[in-house]
Amino acid sequence: MKLIINIKPFSFKLTRKLITSQGIVRKKVGLLLRLKDSDGNYGWGEVAPIGKNELQKCIESLNLIGRSTTKDTIENNLLEFPGALSFGLGSSLSDLENINKSKPHFERFDIEESSYLLPTDTDPLESIIKYLHRTIEKKNNFTIKWKVSNQDNNFKEERVLQKILEILPENFKLRIDPNGGWSRQKAQEWSNELKNEDRLEWIEQPLPSNDIEGLFQLANQIPIALDESLVDFPYLKKTWKSWQIRRPALNGDPRLLLKEIEQEDSQIVISTAFETGIGRRWINHLAARQVKGKNPCAPGLAPGWCPKGPLFRDNPKIVWEAA
Ligand SMILES: [Mg+2]
Repeated sequence: MKLIINIKPFSFKLTRKLITSQGIVRKKVGLLLRLKDSDGNYGWGEVAPIGKNELQKCIESLNLIGRSTTKDTIENNLLEFPGALSFGLGSSLSDLENINKSKPHFERFDIEESSYLLPTDTDPLESIIKYLHRTIEKKNNFTIKWKVSNQDNNFKEERVLQKILEILPENFKLRIDPNGGWSRQKAQEWSNELKNEDRLEWIEQPLPSNDIEGLFQLANQIPIALDESLVDFPYLKKTWKSWQIRRPALNGDPRLLLKEIEQEDSQIVISTAFETGIGRRWINHLAARQVKGKNPCAPGLAPGWCPKGPLFRDNPKIVWEAA
């Protein structure tokens, strides 16, 4: 099947800056893809890696394919391309595959079922108190995610942890994410503090991505989710038998991720890399499938962190026009 690839750059600012131990994210830049087949049907994708150099690599790979290509050429190269590019191309191909199917291609997901990502530029305790007030009426279970080990924190996080545990209701879960910023000693201290804490869901990537031995040791004591390690050492996706944070927009062909999620023992947790409406269709679909699995837990879709507007609508044509 012959295909024409169209590309359009986009960028948007997050509603607030995200500070992690690895740096600050203020905006997203990337490319929207529109693939047109010889019958005039369209498939849509989004290519938006986090690192600037990564986007350049994606553009170089796109230039190698050329603007006029075939479905087979793309399919044969998908595993070799950077993850963000394979996500965009796989998403576009899947739209074209589904064009003649009657049932809707994507399941919806209510973002309120996501974990709540605490702002990283204000006092986490104040944000938690506000969130508790907002959710107190509802009987659901709630999950709060706290990014710790931030560069410009001027408070003692250990003390804040104690206060959080004092006010967190029984039906709430807490995820703590140092983004690889802890030493083994610090991770051990937090683990000692939290190992009998039922409300702790997991600690996410406590140690640098390459300290794999340290991560396996900690996982014997306390639930550990891997995130950055899975990006840097993809073989761990097969060998890590606990929670795995996956950002579909960086993870490669979304059709393959869907198959992984649907495996019975999957402990994959879908997480956002801040997408436009085009990428978000797959993020929501995968999140909706994830919560129906054998190990349900809240996906990490960071409600409220992307602005509103046409760039974030469900209809890809509207998103394309808005870019
Ligand atoms: Mg993380």
